[in-house]
Amino acid sequence: MNPRYIFITGGVTSSLGKGLASAALGALLQARGFSVILRKLDPYLNVDPGTMSPYQHGEVYVTDDGTEADLDLGHYERFTGVSTRSSDYVTTGKIYSTVLAKERRGDYLGATVQVIPHITDEIKHFVTNETDGADFVLCEIGGTVGDIEGLPYLEAIRQLRNDLGRERTMFVHLTLLPYIPAAGELKTKPTQHSVKELLSVGIQADLLLCRSDRPIPVEAKRKLAQFCNVQSENVIAALDADNIYQVPLQYHEEGFDRQVCKFFNVEKPATGLNRWHKVVEDFKNPKAIVKVGIVGKYVQLLDAYKSIIQALAHGGIHHHILPELVWIDSESEDEVIRQLQNVDAVLVPGGFGERGINGKLAAAQYARENKIPYLGICFGMQLAVIEACRNQLGLKEASSTEFGPTKEPVVALLTEWASDAGVQLRTENSDLGGTMRLGAYPCALEKGSLAHQIYGKDLIHERHRHRYEVNKTYCEKLEKAGMHFSGFSPDGRLPEIMERTDHPWFVGVQFHPELKSRLFEPHPLFAAFVKAALDCRKN
Ligand code: GLN
Repeated sequence: MNPRYIFITGGVTSSLGKGLASAALGALLQARGFSVILRKLDPYLNVDPGTMSPYQHGEVYVTDDGTEADLDLGHYERFTGVSTRSSDYVTTGKIYSTVLAKERRGDYLGATVQVIPHITDEIKHFVTNETDGADFVLCEIGGTVGDIEGLPYLEAIRQLRNDLGRERTMFVHLTLLPYIPAAGELKTKPTQHSVKELLSVGIQADLLLCRSDRPIPVEAKRKLAQFCNVQSENVIAALDADNIYQVPLQYHEEGFDRQVCKFFNVEKPATGLNRWHKVVEDFKNPKAIVKVGIVGKYVQLLDAYKSIIQALAHGGIHHHILPELVWIDSESEDEVIRQLQNVDAVLVPGGFGERGINGKLAAAQYARENKIPYLGICFGMQLAVIEACRNQLGLKEASSTEFGPTKEPVVALLTEWASDAGVQLRTENSDLGGTMRLGAYPCALEKGSLAHQIYGKDLIHERHRHRYEVNKTYCEKLEKAGMHFSGFSPDGRLPEIMERTDHPWFVGVQFHPELKSRLFEPHPLFAAFVKAALDCRKN
């Protein structure tokens, strides 16, 4: 079957949650038995978000096939369970790179290369490529309608409506209805303007998804329908939710998926919603609460840790435990130690650069000495290894070459590794963009280890995003300090998992398990970590 395309644009303001809205619609269509693919088109000029600061962009999400992507892809995977791929994420930078490479190759010989049609054709190709027989392809257009950068995307989807017909394309516009206390009213004017803006580039919204902090009166819905030229049943309220996993159920009650099906003239009953009801109930009724301290550099912007937050929630739901997160800024060691007195478990997430490492080293030491469950992710593993070398083995200069030359390179630049694309080679002078060890790689687990017990498998595949690795020559010495490496790349060359034999639950992983945790498939490491937080609690 040819897929149907739903384009999700945003109006009025950014940060309305287009990613979540797209993910929730994907989940609702799945609940009706349709297959879905979700894609994101980002209008900025970076080729990918890999080189952007987390303060700019939040977390960088990584797909199995090694694409560095927007964090919305994480929502898509967590809600739908469908793994995203490089064909699901594009930026203007990527589109232009492709078009310019074609121009240099001579693919457009004779033509003047222009935004229309060359850039728009490339966008259309991205949208319609590798759809794998899905019933629906949901495409989220980043940014806000009215941004100059977004224009080629809007033009491309306008053309797609013309190419594919109304039967196969739908425009969903997510907007905000602000409440003005002095008037005591939700205001529709910004939405009217935004719909008009879309209309000025030839796109008539088919459905309005209206964010608001309170129920939308029938009158306001009627007004929006009339002025924005949509059917009144297609004005859907998107109210603020206590927990993101309630969003699909709220949308369903508002008739979002029913109206989408009606639009495309396809009808299947929503029989798959029970598991959503159950999970929301479980989430609301935990049997225990644990405090998990997260020691990081970006605690002012929690978007930097989006997948970790969700993976902890999923792990908690699995055991009916609610992890309460305590955000601890790694900049001050004293503050780290003070705050760790009150937590049941410590997580040190991924990170880059020397700033804030002392707080993270202190956290690893505190967890080790006080037998508090510790999960070190990527940087969090590397620093736990450095901490053990410095404080247990007496190697005072133990460090990572990421911070400059050192006599004890316990963590060092990854210069060579095998990937599906062949042997990867890197030097100090390699480009910074897209050159890390990225995407899913296999890891062999040692039988009888804690890691093996947690995963229940001999071989796992986890997603990576790092430039440095634990130097294997130190692994043997670390055994004496109670640190055991229980997971390696199948060729035995790259240490992937570390666990302490003298500690109830101390695990470090070189990869990012949080990227593979889903609501209905909680990641085993996070589930085990949250459980350990409860089991090891002293009082
Ligand atoms: N900065 C470290 C490296 O590049 C860790 C990266 C991370 O935590 N994702 O290896």
